[in-house]
Parts: sequence; C-alpha cells; structure tokens
Amino acid sequence: MIETPKIGTQCIWAGEESYLLQGATQVPVVHSVSFGYRDLDDWLAVALGEKEGHIYGRNTNPTVHAFEEKVRQLEGAEAATSAATGMGIISSALFALLSPGQRVVSVKDTYGGTNVIFTEFLPRFQVNVTLCDTTDHEQIEAEIAKGCEVVYLESPTNPTTKVVDLARLAAAGKRVGATVIVDNTFATPVNQRPLTLGADLVLHSATKFLGGHADALGGVICGNKELVQQVYHYREINGATLHPMAAYLLLRGMKTLHLRVRQQNASAMQIAQFLESHPAIERVFYPGLASHSGHVIAQKQMSGFGGMMSFMLKENSLDAVRRFLPRLRLAHAAANLGAVETIVGPPATTSHVECTAEERAAMGIPESLIRYSTGIEDVEDLLADLAQALAIF
Ligand SMILES: *Cc1c(COP(=O)(O)O)cnc(C)c1O
Repeated sequence: MIETPKIGTQCIWAGEESYLLQGATQVPVVHSVSFGYRDLDDWLAVALGEKEGHIYGRNTNPTVHAFEEKVRQLEGAEAATSAATGMGIISSALFALLSPGQRVVSVKDTYGGTNVIFTEFLPRFQVNVTLCDTTDHEQIEAEIAKGCEVVYLESPTNPTTKVVDLARLAAAGKRVGATVIVDNTFATPVNQRPLTLGADLVLHSATKFLGGHADALGGVICGNKELVQQVYHYREINGATLHPMAAYLLLRGMKTLHLRVRQQNASAMQIAQFLESHPAIERVFYPGLASHSGHVIAQKQMSGFGGMMSFMLKENSLDAVRRFLPRLRLAHAAANLGAVETIVGPPATTSHVECTAEERAAMGIPESLIRYSTGIEDVEDLLADLAQALAIF
C-alpha cells in the first residue's frame, strides 16, 4: 500500500491484502462457522485477543473483517466493527454506550428506526433522551452543555436533507466529555469525514451507498479502539452479526463507491436545479442548492453534496404522489436508497413509516414529499423521465 492513497485507490485496495489466499485476487467468502486449533495455547491467545485470528462466526470472520477494514481505512479510523444491518450497529452502539440514569442528546430528524430507539426503547431502560430541533444549533449546544454521555448526530438527514454543523456540535460534546456519534450514511466517506470534524464514532447503514447495489444488508461503525471494542462486545452478544456473503457483496460494491458517488453528486445537482425551476414543484431540499438552509454548513463540511434529495409537489397530497410516482420509468418505487438505480418513495411509506401522519407533520415532512435517491443512470435520461412524469400537473 502506498503511504497516503487517495479515496478511489482506497476503495479498490484497502483492507483486502491479508485475506487473499493462494493467489486469489479477491477476498474469499469464508462460510465456516468455526475455526479450529490444534495448539491450545494458540487458541487461547486468539481467544484473549493477544493474537490475530478467528474462533466463532458470531464474533469475527475473515470476510467480514476485510469489509470492516476497508471502511475503517476510508473513514481514517483506528478501529471498525460491523453488524447485520444499519439498525444493528446503531442499536448496538446506543445500548453499549448508555446506562440507566445517563443522557443522550440528539435531533428530531434522525432516521426513523433510530428515532424509535430514542422514543420507545431507551426510555424503558431509564436513559434520558433529549431530541432537539435539528437546525437550532443554539438549542442543541445548550442541551449538550447541561451534560450528557452521548451526542448522536446525522447529516444530511433523512428525508429533508437537513444539515447539522458537525464540527461545532462535536466540540460542544467534547466540552462535557460526551461520546459523539455521527450517522454518515447519506454522505459516505467520499463526501464527508466526521472523524476529521471531531466525532468519536462514525457509522453507516452499509445497505445504502457503501454496498450500492441494493443486494446486501449491513452496518458498520468506526472510531477509536476502546469505543469500537465496547460496541463490538455488545454486538457479539446480541448476535446481530454481519453475514460473510453480505460482507463480500458490500466489499465488491465498495470498489466503485468513489465512482458512483461522484456521478451521484453531479447528477443530483443537475436534477435539483431542474426541479427547483419546475412549475409543478413547491420546494426542493438538496444541500447543494443555495436556497437550502444548510448550504453554507454543507459547503464547509462536505466535499460533495451527495445523491439524496427530496422535493415537495405543489399539489400537497398523498393522492398527487400516488398519481405521479407510477409515471417514473427510471426509478424503483421502493424503501431503499443509495443504489445504482434511482429510487423514489414518500417518507410516509419508507423512512418514517413508523411515525403517524401527525408526527410526520410535526417533523416538517409534508404529505407530498418525495425522497429521490439519484442513481448512476445518464442524467439526461433521468431529467427527461422526471419531465414527462411531472407533465400531468
Ligand atoms: C437505512 C438507514 C439506516 C438503517 O439501516 P438498515 O441497514 O436499514 O438497518 C440508518 N440510518 C440511515 C441514515 C439510513 O438511511
């Protein structure tokens, strides 16, 4: 490995060297559940973590390790561990790092599933949860300053792409000794590196952009050794382990992460501009637009604005969405994002399906909002497809 490889080189090469077998150029999918030892001392050394190796598949696995290693290097972290899904790693992190009587400060616009952990599960274990207005940085800072063990952030958020100032809030967390966690799923390490902005842990739903092909679920978290070890320890016991086959698919997908994300950045910008000037569109939420409330912060902390946007139809009803969505030919209407294909869906059926219509309204999610995950199709075709579909209005 050259000393300071750029991100595209890392996407291809990082983390794979140590597991290539007998001249294979690709990481093998190791399905074996257990790993045998003839030498008891050897076995013991691996079990005690004094020597590298694997014992049992719920704990660690070579293919899974190669995936963790690739993400670790892309995020510039000391350590990484994974889980079967994004929610697997998010819940593992929160339950590993919080105890009864402690406090977590977060924002109202976290991913729907994360929000359920905050509103339903953590309170059952007497963890105090404070969810702030996502764009009110003074309020978030003030709540953090009252003292907390964890600050949990996400930027850009799902689905309205709100942007939080990661460096500013990480600094606030640091002042009270809190562990700062950032969900970097929407940005990917190609566009945003939270650890360089002061976060302690950065996590992903690898199901989305990292894998990029909508064919494998996964979650991953990176940061310093001690914190990652705590999350790993919880995950090895709760058993939400990433499957080796999924790890392989994620590894393969990640080899084109930089190419995909660069294309998605460029196409999304063009599409956002097109939609913003379209008479049937009320509003476009994309951090790359000057009209976006978080544009200045996004410019500061992101090197690209990503492939995710959402937009609101002028006719603000679920019925308008019902008529519009089936007209799109080059988009899956599905509950996923970050794939090579363009994917659309109303938050009512995807990210915030767990919320009631009233809760969605309170979160500023209008009924005609459509989340648009830009694929890597030719942008001219995506623009034409949107234009023909919007012609009904
Ligand atoms: C999808 C998603 C998650 C959850 O990931 P799963 O792999 O579906 O469990 C968490 N955070 C964000 C931002 C997401 O988009």
